[in-house]
Amino acid sequence: MSATTETLNPYEIVKKQIRKAVDALGLEDAVYEILSKPLRVIEVAIPVKMDNGTIKVFTGYRSQHNDALGPTKGGLRFHPDVYLDEVKALSTWMSLKCAILGLPYGGGKGAIKCNPKELSQGELERLSRGYIQKIAQFVGSEKDIPAPDVYTNPQIMAWMVDEFAKIRQYNDFGLMTGKPLVIGGSLGRNEATARGCVTCIREAAKRKGLEIKGATVAVQGYGNAGSIAAQLIHEMGAKVVAVSDSRGGILNWDGLDPDAVLAHKQETGSVVGFPGAESITNAELLELEVDILIPAALENVITSENAPRIKAKIVGEAANGPTTPEADEIMWQNGVFVLPDVLASAGGVTVSYFEWVQNLSGFYWTEEEVNSRLEQMMVAAFDNVYNMHEEKGVKMRDAAYMVGISRIAEAMRVRGWL
Ligand code: NAD
Repeated sequence: MSATTETLNPYEIVKKQIRKAVDALGLEDAVYEILSKPLRVIEVAIPVKMDNGTIKVFTGYRSQHNDALGPTKGGLRFHPDVYLDEVKALSTWMSLKCAILGLPYGGGKGAIKCNPKELSQGELERLSRGYIQKIAQFVGSEKDIPAPDVYTNPQIMAWMVDEFAKIRQYNDFGLMTGKPLVIGGSLGRNEATARGCVTCIREAAKRKGLEIKGATVAVQGYGNAGSIAAQLIHEMGAKVVAVSDSRGGILNWDGLDPDAVLAHKQETGSVVGFPGAESITNAELLELEVDILIPAALENVITSENAPRIKAKIVGEAANGPTTPEADEIMWQNGVFVLPDVLASAGGVTVSYFEWVQNLSGFYWTEEEVNSRLEQMMVAAFDNVYNMHEEKGVKMRDAAYMVGISRIAEAMRVRGWL
Protein backbone atom coordinates (compact mmCIF):
# COMPACT_ATOMS: atom_id res chain seq x y z
CA MET A 1 0.00 0.00 0.00
CA SER A 2 1.38 3.44 -0.80
CA ALA A 3 1.18 6.44 1.50
CA THR A 4 -1.30 8.07 -0.85
CA THR A 5 -3.94 5.38 -0.29
CA GLU A 6 -3.70 5.16 3.47
CA THR A 7 -5.75 7.33 5.80
CA LEU A 8 -3.75 10.21 7.16
CA ASN A 9 -6.71 11.82 8.93
CA PRO A 10 -5.80 11.30 12.61
CA TYR A 11 -9.44 11.30 13.71
CA GLU A 12 -10.26 8.45 11.32
CA ILE A 13 -7.13 6.66 12.53
CA VAL A 14 -7.97 6.95 16.23
CA LYS A 15 -11.55 5.78 15.62
CA LYS A 16 -10.22 2.65 13.89
CA GLN A 17 -7.88 2.04 16.80
CA ILE A 18 -10.73 2.37 19.29
CA ARG A 19 -12.91 -0.02 17.26
CA LYS A 20 -10.14 -2.59 17.28
CA ALA A 21 -9.58 -2.34 21.04
CA VAL A 22 -13.30 -2.40 21.88
CA ASP A 23 -13.69 -5.57 19.79
CA ALA A 24 -10.57 -7.18 21.26
CA LEU A 25 -11.89 -6.50 24.77
CA GLY A 26 -15.32 -7.87 23.85
CA LEU A 27 -17.01 -4.64 25.03
CA GLU A 28 -20.43 -3.51 23.86
CA ASP A 29 -20.82 -1.27 20.82
CA ALA A 30 -21.92 1.64 23.00
CA VAL A 31 -18.34 2.01 24.24
CA TYR A 32 -17.19 2.59 20.67
CA GLU A 33 -20.13 4.88 19.95
CA ILE A 34 -19.38 7.11 22.94
CA LEU A 35 -15.59 7.16 22.48
CA SER A 36 -15.69 7.79 18.74
CA LYS A 37 -17.11 11.29 19.26
CA PRO A 38 -15.88 14.10 21.53
CA LEU A 39 -18.48 15.07 24.11
CA ARG A 40 -18.14 18.74 23.16
CA VAL A 41 -16.36 20.63 20.38
CA ILE A 42 -16.02 24.39 20.48
CA GLU A 43 -14.98 26.57 17.54
CA VAL A 44 -14.37 30.26 18.11
CA ALA A 45 -13.42 33.31 16.04
CA ILE A 46 -10.82 35.53 17.71
CA PRO A 47 -10.40 39.06 16.36
CA VAL A 48 -6.92 40.40 17.12
CA LYS A 49 -5.65 43.94 16.63
CA MET A 50 -2.38 43.51 14.75
CA ASP A 51 0.60 45.81 15.29
CA ASN A 52 -0.15 47.63 12.01
CA GLY A 53 -3.64 48.56 13.26
CA THR A 54 -5.60 46.06 11.13
CA ILE A 55 -7.87 43.40 12.62
CA LYS A 56 -7.18 39.76 11.83
CA VAL A 57 -9.66 37.05 12.82
CA PHE A 58 -8.14 33.72 13.92
CA THR A 59 -9.98 30.41 14.35
CA GLY A 60 -9.62 28.57 17.64
CA TYR A 61 -10.80 25.12 18.71
CA ARG A 62 -11.27 23.16 21.91
CA SER A 63 -12.34 19.54 21.84
CA GLN A 64 -13.42 17.85 25.08
CA HIS A 65 -13.45 14.17 24.40
CA ASN A 66 -14.68 12.24 27.44
CA ASP A 67 -15.03 13.18 31.10
CA ALA A 68 -15.98 9.84 32.68
CA LEU A 69 -12.75 9.77 34.72
CA GLY A 70 -12.63 13.47 35.62
CA PRO A 71 -12.28 16.94 34.09
CA THR A 72 -10.88 17.02 30.57
CA LYS A 73 -7.20 17.81 30.16
CA GLY A 74 -4.86 18.41 27.28
CA GLY A 75 -2.58 20.75 25.40
CA LEU A 76 -3.12 23.77 23.25
CA ARG A 77 -1.40 23.94 19.87
CA PHE A 78 -0.63 26.99 17.73
CA HIS A 79 -0.04 25.89 14.15
CA PRO A 80 -0.91 27.22 10.67
CA ASP A 81 -2.08 23.81 9.38
CA VAL A 82 -4.13 22.70 12.36
CA TYR A 83 -7.68 21.48 11.57
CA LEU A 84 -10.68 20.31 13.55
CA ASP A 85 -10.34 16.56 12.95
CA GLU A 86 -6.75 16.77 14.17
CA VAL A 87 -7.88 18.48 17.38
CA LYS A 88 -10.61 15.86 17.88
CA ALA A 89 -8.05 13.08 17.45
CA LEU A 90 -5.59 14.73 19.82
CA SER A 91 -8.34 15.05 22.46
CA THR A 92 -9.18 11.36 22.06
CA TRP A 93 -5.54 10.39 22.50
CA MET A 94 -5.53 12.49 25.68
CA SER A 95 -8.43 10.46 27.12
CA LEU A 96 -6.43 7.32 26.45
CA LYS A 97 -3.19 8.70 27.89
CA CYS A 98 -4.88 9.81 31.10
CA ALA A 99 -6.60 6.44 31.45
CA ILE A 100 -3.41 4.45 30.76
CA LEU A 101 -1.50 6.46 33.37
CA GLY A 102 -4.32 6.15 35.89
CA LEU A 103 -4.90 9.93 36.09
CA PRO A 104 -8.26 11.33 37.27
CA TYR A 105 -8.90 13.07 33.94
CA GLY A 106 -10.62 12.74 30.62
CA GLY A 107 -9.07 14.05 27.42
CA GLY A 108 -9.18 17.47 25.83
CA LYS A 109 -7.17 19.42 23.27
CA GLY A 110 -7.22 22.90 21.82
CA ALA A 111 -5.66 24.78 18.97
CA ILE A 112 -5.45 28.10 17.23
CA LYS A 113 -4.83 28.15 13.50
CA CYS A 114 -1.98 30.66 13.26
CA ASN A 115 1.69 30.91 12.49
CA PRO A 116 3.24 32.04 15.77
CA LYS A 117 6.59 32.62 14.02
CA GLU A 118 4.94 35.50 12.11
CA LEU A 119 3.37 37.13 15.18
CA SER A 120 4.97 39.74 17.43
CA GLN A 121 4.93 39.14 21.20
CA GLY A 122 2.13 41.70 21.52
CA GLU A 123 0.03 39.99 18.86
CA LEU A 124 0.66 36.60 20.45
CA GLU A 125 -0.45 37.95 23.82
CA ARG A 126 -3.65 39.50 22.43
CA LEU A 127 -4.42 36.25 20.56
CA SER A 128 -3.86 34.14 23.70
CA ARG A 129 -6.05 36.41 25.82
CA GLY A 130 -8.72 36.50 23.09
CA TYR A 131 -8.86 32.70 22.99
CA ILE A 132 -9.47 32.46 26.74
CA GLN A 133 -12.18 35.13 26.57
CA LYS A 134 -13.99 33.00 23.99
CA ILE A 135 -13.75 29.67 25.80
CA ALA A 136 -13.85 30.88 29.43
CA GLN A 137 -17.24 29.39 30.20
CA PHE A 138 -16.07 25.92 29.17
CA VAL A 139 -12.73 25.70 31.03
CA GLY A 140 -11.45 25.90 34.61
CA SER A 141 -9.64 23.73 37.13
CA GLU A 142 -12.72 21.56 37.64
CA LYS A 143 -13.89 21.48 34.01
CA ASP A 144 -11.14 21.44 31.42
CA ILE A 145 -7.45 22.19 31.93
CA PRO A 146 -5.27 23.21 28.96
CA ALA A 147 -1.44 22.96 28.81
CA PRO A 148 1.37 23.68 26.34
CA ASP A 149 1.76 21.74 23.10
CA VAL A 150 3.35 22.53 19.74
CA TYR A 151 4.45 26.20 19.58
CA THR A 152 2.91 27.17 22.92
CA ASN A 153 4.91 27.73 26.10
CA PRO A 154 4.75 28.81 29.77
CA GLN A 155 4.45 32.51 28.81
CA ILE A 156 1.32 31.79 26.78
CA MET A 157 -0.10 29.81 29.72
CA ALA A 158 0.63 32.80 32.00
CA TRP A 159 -1.27 35.26 29.77
CA MET A 160 -4.21 32.88 29.66
CA VAL A 161 -4.28 32.33 33.44
CA ASP A 162 -4.14 36.09 33.91
CA GLU A 163 -6.99 36.71 31.46
CA PHE A 164 -9.10 34.06 33.18
CA ALA A 165 -8.39 35.69 36.56
CA LYS A 166 -9.71 39.00 35.19
CA ILE A 167 -12.89 37.32 33.95
CA ARG A 168 -13.50 35.29 37.13
CA GLN A 169 -12.15 37.91 39.55
CA TYR A 170 -9.95 35.36 41.32
CA ASN A 171 -6.80 33.37 40.54
CA ASP A 172 -7.57 29.87 39.34
CA PHE A 173 -4.01 28.63 38.86
CA GLY A 174 -5.31 25.11 38.31
CA LEU A 175 -6.89 26.34 35.05
CA MET A 176 -3.74 25.71 33.03
CA THR A 177 -0.65 23.59 33.57
CA GLY A 178 2.84 24.18 32.19
CA LYS A 179 2.81 27.64 33.80
CA PRO A 180 5.90 29.59 34.86
CA LEU A 181 7.03 28.48 38.34
CA VAL A 182 6.31 31.83 39.95
CA ILE A 183 2.56 31.55 39.29
CA GLY A 184 2.03 27.93 40.27
CA GLY A 185 4.06 25.99 37.74
CA SER A 186 5.62 22.70 38.80
CA LEU A 187 9.27 21.84 38.99
CA GLY A 188 9.99 19.11 36.46
CA ARG A 189 7.06 19.96 34.12
CA ASN A 190 9.27 21.26 31.34
CA GLU A 191 11.23 18.00 31.14
CA ALA A 192 8.28 15.71 31.88
CA THR A 193 7.23 14.61 28.39
CA ALA A 194 10.79 13.78 27.47
CA ARG A 195 11.51 12.13 30.83
CA GLY A 196 8.43 9.92 30.49
CA CYS A 197 9.41 8.92 26.96
CA VAL A 198 12.99 8.12 27.90
CA THR A 199 11.78 6.12 30.92
CA CYS A 200 9.63 3.98 28.61
CA ILE A 201 12.55 3.54 26.22
CA ARG A 202 14.76 2.43 29.14
CA GLU A 203 12.14 -0.12 30.27
CA ALA A 204 11.71 -1.39 26.70
CA ALA A 205 15.48 -1.66 26.25
CA LYS A 206 15.67 -3.85 29.39
CA ARG A 207 13.03 -6.20 27.98
CA LYS A 208 14.74 -6.32 24.58
CA GLY A 209 18.28 -6.81 25.94
CA LEU A 210 19.48 -3.51 24.48
CA GLU A 211 22.12 -1.59 26.43
CA ILE A 212 21.23 2.14 26.54
CA LYS A 213 24.85 3.00 27.20
CA GLY A 214 26.41 3.36 23.78
CA ALA A 215 23.12 2.90 21.89
CA THR A 216 22.70 5.22 18.89
CA VAL A 217 19.72 7.58 18.85
CA ALA A 218 17.99 9.81 16.28
CA VAL A 219 15.47 12.46 17.36
CA GLN A 220 13.03 14.19 15.02
CA GLY A 221 11.87 17.60 16.33
CA TYR A 222 14.02 19.70 18.64
CA GLY A 223 11.45 21.52 20.75
CA ASN A 224 10.31 20.79 24.28
CA ALA A 225 9.89 17.03 23.84
CA GLY A 226 12.73 16.32 21.38
CA SER A 227 15.56 18.47 22.70
CA ILE A 228 15.08 17.34 26.30
CA ALA A 229 14.70 13.67 25.28
CA ALA A 230 18.04 14.03 23.48
CA GLN A 231 19.62 15.55 26.60
CA LEU A 232 18.24 12.92 28.97
CA ILE A 233 19.18 9.90 26.86
CA HIS A 234 22.63 11.42 26.30
CA GLU A 235 22.99 11.66 30.11
CA MET A 236 22.14 7.95 30.29
CA GLY A 237 25.14 7.20 28.09
CA ALA A 238 23.46 6.84 24.70
CA LYS A 239 24.98 8.45 21.62
CA VAL A 240 22.63 10.97 19.97
CA VAL A 241 23.81 10.90 16.35
CA ALA A 242 21.06 12.80 14.54
CA VAL A 243 18.44 15.45 15.36
CA SER A 244 16.19 17.70 13.27
CA ASP A 245 13.63 20.49 13.31
CA SER A 246 11.23 21.96 10.77
CA ARG A 247 14.15 23.30 8.69
CA GLY A 248 16.08 20.00 8.39
CA GLY A 249 18.40 17.65 10.25
CA ILE A 250 22.02 17.12 11.26
CA LEU A 251 24.07 13.93 11.60
CA ASN A 252 27.33 13.02 13.27
CA TRP A 253 28.03 9.31 13.84
CA ASP A 254 30.56 10.24 16.55
CA GLY A 255 27.69 11.73 18.56
CA LEU A 256 26.25 15.22 19.03
CA ASP A 257 26.29 17.23 22.26
CA PRO A 258 22.55 17.94 22.77
CA ASP A 259 23.20 21.01 24.95
CA ALA A 260 25.49 22.54 22.35
CA VAL A 261 22.93 21.78 19.61
CA LEU A 262 20.23 23.51 21.68
CA ALA A 263 22.43 26.55 22.19
CA HIS A 264 23.02 26.65 18.41
CA LYS A 265 19.26 26.43 17.78
CA GLN A 266 18.56 29.19 20.30
CA GLU A 267 21.14 31.38 18.61
CA THR A 268 20.32 30.70 14.95
CA GLY A 269 16.69 29.48 15.05
CA SER A 270 17.53 25.96 13.86
CA VAL A 271 19.70 22.91 14.51
CA VAL A 272 20.75 23.12 10.85
CA GLY A 273 24.30 24.38 10.34
CA PHE A 274 25.58 22.96 13.66
CA PRO A 275 29.39 22.86 13.36
CA GLY A 276 30.92 19.44 12.67
CA ALA A 277 27.68 17.76 11.58
CA GLU A 278 26.49 16.93 8.08
CA SER A 279 23.07 18.00 6.85
CA ILE A 280 20.33 15.43 6.36
CA THR A 281 16.62 15.68 5.61
CA ASN A 282 13.88 14.80 8.08
CA ALA A 283 13.02 11.82 5.87
CA GLU A 284 16.59 10.54 5.94
CA LEU A 285 16.78 10.91 9.72
CA LEU A 286 13.88 8.50 10.22
CA GLU A 287 15.57 5.79 8.16
CA LEU A 288 19.01 5.90 9.79
CA GLU A 289 20.52 2.67 11.10
CA VAL A 290 20.18 3.63 14.77
CA ASP A 291 19.12 1.62 17.81
CA ILE A 292 16.53 4.12 19.02
CA LEU A 293 14.34 6.54 17.05
CA ILE A 294 12.37 9.27 18.82
CA PRO A 295 9.80 11.06 16.65
CA ALA A 296 9.09 14.29 18.58
CA ALA A 297 7.53 16.61 16.00
CA LEU A 298 4.20 16.11 14.24
CA GLU A 299 1.77 13.43 13.02
CA ASN A 300 2.06 10.93 10.15
CA VAL A 301 5.81 10.99 9.67
CA ILE A 302 6.06 7.18 9.58
CA THR A 303 3.73 5.84 6.89
CA SER A 304 3.50 2.64 4.83
CA GLU A 305 5.85 4.32 2.38
CA ASN A 306 8.89 4.65 4.69
CA ALA A 307 8.02 2.09 7.42
CA PRO A 308 9.76 -0.80 5.58
CA ARG A 309 12.99 1.22 5.76
CA ILE A 310 12.85 2.05 9.49
CA LYS A 311 15.86 0.28 10.97
CA ALA A 312 15.63 1.33 14.62
CA LYS A 313 15.14 -1.44 17.18
CA ILE A 314 12.97 0.76 19.42
CA VAL A 315 10.75 3.67 18.37
CA GLY A 316 9.69 5.87 21.29
CA GLU A 317 6.84 8.12 20.20
CA ALA A 318 7.25 11.43 22.04
CA ALA A 319 5.03 13.10 19.43
CA ASN A 320 1.33 12.46 19.16
CA GLY A 321 0.32 10.33 16.19
CA PRO A 322 3.65 10.05 14.33
CA THR A 323 2.85 6.56 12.98
CA THR A 324 -0.04 5.48 10.74
CA PRO A 325 -1.72 2.12 11.52
CA GLU A 326 -0.33 0.64 8.28
CA ALA A 327 3.19 1.71 9.22
CA ASP A 328 2.68 0.33 12.71
CA GLU A 329 1.77 -3.06 11.27
CA ILE A 330 4.81 -3.08 8.95
CA MET A 331 7.16 -2.25 11.83
CA TRP A 332 5.53 -4.94 14.00
CA GLN A 333 6.13 -7.52 11.24
CA ASN A 334 9.73 -6.31 10.95
CA GLY A 335 10.36 -6.65 14.68
CA VAL A 336 10.64 -2.91 15.40
CA PHE A 337 9.44 -2.38 18.98
CA VAL A 338 7.17 0.69 18.92
CA LEU A 339 6.31 2.48 22.14
CA PRO A 340 3.02 4.18 21.30
CA ASP A 341 2.34 7.88 21.88
CA VAL A 342 -0.53 7.20 24.30
CA LEU A 343 2.06 5.67 26.63
CA ALA A 344 5.43 7.15 25.64
CA SER A 345 4.31 10.79 25.49
CA ALA A 346 2.22 10.67 28.67
CA GLY A 347 4.92 12.07 30.98
CA GLY A 348 3.82 15.63 30.23
CA VAL A 349 0.22 15.14 31.28
CA THR A 350 1.35 13.16 34.32
CA VAL A 351 3.41 16.06 35.67
CA SER A 352 0.62 18.43 34.58
CA TYR A 353 -1.54 16.39 36.93
CA PHE A 354 1.06 16.90 39.69
CA GLU A 355 1.03 20.64 38.93
CA TRP A 356 -2.77 20.76 39.22
CA VAL A 357 -2.67 18.81 42.51
CA GLN A 358 -0.10 21.31 43.85
CA ASN A 359 -2.29 24.25 42.71
CA LEU A 360 -5.41 22.82 44.33
CA SER A 361 -3.63 22.05 47.59
CA GLY A 362 -1.41 25.14 47.59
CA PHE A 363 1.53 22.97 48.63
CA TYR A 364 4.51 22.71 46.31
CA TRP A 365 6.78 19.71 45.79
CA THR A 366 10.52 19.39 45.27
CA GLU A 367 11.85 18.40 41.87
CA GLU A 368 13.02 15.05 43.29
CA GLU A 369 9.49 14.32 44.47
CA VAL A 370 8.01 15.18 41.07
CA ASN A 371 10.57 13.08 39.21
CA SER A 372 10.32 10.10 41.51
CA ARG A 373 6.50 10.03 41.32
CA LEU A 374 6.69 10.38 37.53
CA GLU A 375 9.15 7.49 37.40
CA GLN A 376 6.82 5.30 39.49
CA MET A 377 3.76 6.09 37.39
CA MET A 378 5.50 5.68 34.03
CA VAL A 379 7.04 2.34 35.02
CA ALA A 380 3.69 1.07 36.36
CA ALA A 381 1.92 2.14 33.14
CA PHE A 382 4.66 0.59 31.01
CA ASP A 383 4.36 -2.68 32.95
CA ASN A 384 0.56 -2.76 32.57
CA VAL A 385 0.78 -2.23 28.84
CA TYR A 386 3.71 -4.62 28.43
CA ASN A 387 1.88 -7.35 30.34
CA MET A 388 -1.21 -6.91 28.14
CA HIS A 389 1.06 -7.04 25.06
CA GLU A 390 2.62 -10.30 26.25
CA GLU A 391 -0.60 -11.87 27.46
CA LYS A 392 -2.61 -11.15 24.30
CA GLY A 393 0.26 -11.28 21.80
CA VAL A 394 -0.69 -7.85 20.43
CA LYS A 395 1.32 -4.75 19.54
CA MET A 396 2.17 -2.35 22.37
CA ARG A 397 -0.20 0.18 20.79
CA ASP A 398 -3.13 -2.24 20.77
CA ALA A 399 -2.28 -3.25 24.35
CA ALA A 400 -2.17 0.40 25.45
CA TYR A 401 -5.57 1.09 23.90
CA MET A 402 -6.96 -1.98 25.63
CA VAL A 403 -5.63 -0.85 29.02
CA GLY A 404 -6.95 2.70 28.53
CA ILE A 405 -10.35 1.79 27.13
CA SER A 406 -10.98 -0.82 29.86
CA ARG A 407 -10.55 1.88 32.49
CA ILE A 408 -12.73 4.47 30.73
CA ALA A 409 -15.41 1.83 30.08
CA GLU A 410 -15.38 0.82 33.73
CA ALA A 411 -15.89 4.45 34.78
CA MET A 412 -18.71 4.87 32.27
CA ARG A 413 -20.30 1.66 33.54
CA VAL A 414 -20.29 2.59 37.22
CA ARG A 415 -21.62 6.03 36.30
CA GLY A 416 -24.54 4.37 34.51
CA TRP A 417 -23.65 5.52 30.99
CA LEU A 418 -23.59 1.97 29.65
P1 NAD B 1 7.59 22.35 20.32
O1 NAD B 1 6.84 23.42 19.64
O2 NAD B 1 8.35 22.65 21.55
O3 NAD B 1 8.61 21.67 19.27
C1 NAD B 1 8.22 21.17 18.04
C2 NAD B 1 9.47 20.83 17.26
O4 NAD B 1 9.10 20.13 16.07
C3 NAD B 1 10.30 22.04 16.83
O5 NAD B 1 11.67 21.75 16.97
C4 NAD B 1 9.95 22.18 15.35
O6 NAD B 1 10.95 22.79 14.59
C5 NAD B 1 9.78 20.72 14.98
N1 NAD B 1 9.00 20.55 13.76
C6 NAD B 1 7.86 21.18 13.38
N2 NAD B 1 7.48 20.75 12.17
C7 NAD B 1 8.39 19.82 11.80
C8 NAD B 1 8.54 19.01 10.64
N3 NAD B 1 7.67 19.09 9.64
N4 NAD B 1 9.60 18.16 10.60
C9 NAD B 1 10.49 18.10 11.62
N5 NAD B 1 10.39 18.84 12.73
C10 NAD B 1 9.35 19.69 12.80
O7 NAD B 1 6.54 21.18 20.57
P2 NAD B 1 6.59 19.99 21.62
O8 NAD B 1 5.82 20.42 22.81
O9 NAD B 1 7.97 19.49 21.75
O10 NAD B 1 5.69 18.90 20.87
C11 NAD B 1 6.26 17.98 19.93
C12 NAD B 1 5.36 16.75 19.87
O11 NAD B 1 5.25 16.21 21.18
C13 NAD B 1 3.92 17.05 19.42
O12 NAD B 1 3.43 15.93 18.71
C14 NAD B 1 3.19 17.17 20.73
O13 NAD B 1 1.80 16.93 20.59
C15 NAD B 1 3.89 16.11 21.53
N6 NAD B 1 3.72 16.24 22.97
C16 NAD B 1 4.14 17.34 23.64
C17 NAD B 1 3.92 17.43 25.01
C18 NAD B 1 4.40 18.58 25.83
O14 NAD B 1 4.24 18.51 27.06
N7 NAD B 1 5.02 19.59 25.27
C19 NAD B 1 3.27 16.40 25.67
C20 NAD B 1 2.88 15.26 24.96
C21 NAD B 1 3.11 15.21 23.60
